[in-house]
Amino acid sequence: MQNINDFTAKTVDFKHGERNVFLHLLTQCNLACRHCYINPAQHGTNILPKDTALDWLRLFARPDRASNLVLLGGEPTLHPDLAEIIRAAKALRYAVTVDSNGFLFHDFLQQVQPDELDFLSFSLDGPDAAVNDAIRGEGVFAVCTENLRKAVSLGFRTSLICTVSALNIEHLHEMPALLAELGVRRFFIQVIGLRGKSAVAGANSLQVEPARWLELVPKTARQAARLGIHVTFPKVFLDKGETFSCAGQVAENYFVFPNGRVYRCPLCEDYPIHSLRIENGQLMQQDGLNEDRFFSLRIPEGCVMNKLLQPDTIAYLPNGQPAHRISCCMLKQEIRC
Ligand code: SF4
Ligand code: SF4
Repeated sequence: MQNINDFTAKTVDFKHGERNVFLHLLTQCNLACRHCYINPAQHGTNILPKDTALDWLRLFARPDRASNLVLLGGEPTLHPDLAEIIRAAKALRYAVTVDSNGFLFHDFLQQVQPDELDFLSFSLDGPDAAVNDAIRGEGVFAVCTENLRKAVSLGFRTSLICTVSALNIEHLHEMPALLAELGVRRFFIQVIGLRGKSAVAGANSLQVEPARWLELVPKTARQAARLGIHVTFPKVFLDKGETFSCAGQVAENYFVFPNGRVYRCPLCEDYPIHSLRIENGQLMQQDGLNEDRFFSLRIPEGCVMNKLLQPDTIAYLPNGQPAHRISCCMLKQEIRC
């Protein structure tokens, strides 16, 4: 048997030419998770009409290049035309993932065939109802795991996203066994963000101490890899000598909202500083001081937006230098079995 230390995390640098389109079809959701990052005040409450969704898929499609499409919300399965949107996206040669909270409305598993979807992703924030439901709501663990089992038994490729916060980090090590038992192939460990509810005053209690993250997350990732699960987790803290780069400058990521705002950096989503917008079916550059002005700034702390949004969480050495440089939030590490 292989030792868990044999599994080393590899930093997945931004791949040249890769494109990721994160399309929020709506902001509505049946849940009210404690760390929800969706911000209807900034992104509206309208459901993207099917025809507009199809136009926007064509707008971002580059069939000659690898493009990943993540359909999300709110809860994307609340969209009545989700199955049709998935089929249109596949015809445009996107690799398509649906990020669901697990409720799978509109009989989703019957509307889509497993080979029409690259991944069906479920969100679960704890290894049992006690931990998960304290974050995501009563009864959610039971519904999500039941639907996940159904999806696996029907042949869907499934992944699971766990958002790590101070509320669940001590239970993270129990997740790999659950994933293996459920038959989940990919595990995405996310760090609690600073958007939406997590950004409001008093929510600091949700943030994870850097030392706990560095101690527990890579260890859990290795445990999952040992069980044959492909694990991805954010880099967060750059190693000495590692190069900092901002995805806003070197990668093609589009975070698209139903009100037409398009961001290049997810940390900016709580503010009206999107660099692009969709207007009359065209992708337009926004005028004025927007997120793209920050991307080229170089500071010792690494990511400029992180420094602007959470300066209190950066520790400094006696010589005034930051103890860690913070990586781009889009920089991931990967462990495969
Ligand atoms: S499932 Fe997602 S969109 Fe819905 S409340 Fe939870 S975090 Fe927000
Ligand atoms: S998270 Fe920081 S480094 Fe990454 S795109 Fe945003 S501003 Fe750039």
